[in-house]
Amino acid sequence: MNLLVLNSGSSSIKFALFSRAPGADPVLACRGEIEGIAGGVQRFFAVDADGQALLDTSSSAQHTHAGALADLLDWLEQQRSLGDLGAVGHRVVHGGQSFTAPALIDAGVLKELAALIPLAPLHQPHNLAAIRALAVRNPAIPQVACFDTAFHHTQPAVARHFALPRDLTAAGVLRYGFHGLSYTYIAGELAAAGAGSGRVIVAHLGNGASMCALRDGRSQATSMGFTALDGLPMGTRCGALDPGVVLYLQENLAMNAAEVNELLYHRSGLLGVSAVSNDMRVLLASDDPRAAEAVALFIYRIGRELGSLAAALGGLDALVFTGGIGEHSAEVRARVCAAAKWLGVRLDEAANAAHADIISAAGSAVSVRVIPTDEERVIARSTCALLDRKTD
Ligand code: ADP
Repeated sequence: MNLLVLNSGSSSIKFALFSRAPGADPVLACRGEIEGIAGGVQRFFAVDADGQALLDTSSSAQHTHAGALADLLDWLEQQRSLGDLGAVGHRVVHGGQSFTAPALIDAGVLKELAALIPLAPLHQPHNLAAIRALAVRNPAIPQVACFDTAFHHTQPAVARHFALPRDLTAAGVLRYGFHGLSYTYIAGELAAAGAGSGRVIVAHLGNGASMCALRDGRSQATSMGFTALDGLPMGTRCGALDPGVVLYLQENLAMNAAEVNELLYHRSGLLGVSAVSNDMRVLLASDDPRAAEAVALFIYRIGRELGSLAAALGGLDALVFTGGIGEHSAEVRARVCAAAKWLGVRLDEAANAAHADIISAAGSAVSVRVIPTDEERVIARSTCALLDRKTD
């Protein structure tokens, strides 16, 4: 059977097509993305499992998500028979308090997920739009939702609660945490390497960035909270902020909610501090002192978060880097490890420069790894596992 994985965002749809023999791990057939859906030039590209280009087209025609999805399904049908497309797995950012595992989507589930839109207004509507568009086009295909929040349901209550009045906590104003599909993949890879037990901190450093404290492969605490705005500074998001700043923006600078939202999600983080770029590669290559300041702030805040998460775990056995920056930037890893020296982290400079799997020096009290994440594979596996259980 073929299995389509979709990650539908505000301006892009990322996809991956897997094939799967009964009982076997899904095998990647191709992956790609339609970018620029919200406006401007729309680019549609796809590569095969070896990274060879299958398609790369651009058009200035305006498209809706449903239109882009129809283009994608048409193209997939041209590429290979979709007659045996057995299921579609979706990344859904928010599962709230009820969805602690992947869920087969029906009208009732869709309604519950729609009720969570206010908790993830930038992502959830687009995730659900793809589900609805697919249901219209092919109502017979089972669709499965895989949640970014679900991995963190193992956090103890003390890690989930804000110091707010109890009625707000009861109403679901909690630290949910995100990037759970990535952490699920990393926890699986650590277990497969015989390194799944003990106290591990994973730093998922991409355009969106967060960190997670795992004990024996289960989330104990994480840097993102109620929304994906909390924690580390990111490409364009501010990360943890004194809530008094929001009050100041509204009361003294007369910014309305939409303006504050735009500032904190799209004009802050590395972009806001540097006034140069949200892209770490550009910042590291820049001579502009403001770019250096942005990188320094990013590293500093990772170091602070590392201390906080290590405190939640009562120590640290392993540190894992993943995400675009974590996987590819030896410089960022070296600087984070230097900031973590007090925790017993010792880096093997040559292994780090070579992007080796293990980059800690012999004798380091903390083992340090680089593990490329694969959220699409987690969705494919979870979708297969859920459908297998349904048909047993
Ligand atoms: P997303 O959160 O959108 O999935 P990614 O995980 O792809 O993002 O990470 C994107 C980030 O990774 C960008 O800031 C990019 O500059 C950074 N990145 C990618 N390759 C490198 C590299 N070789 N050195 C430094 N940063 C890199």
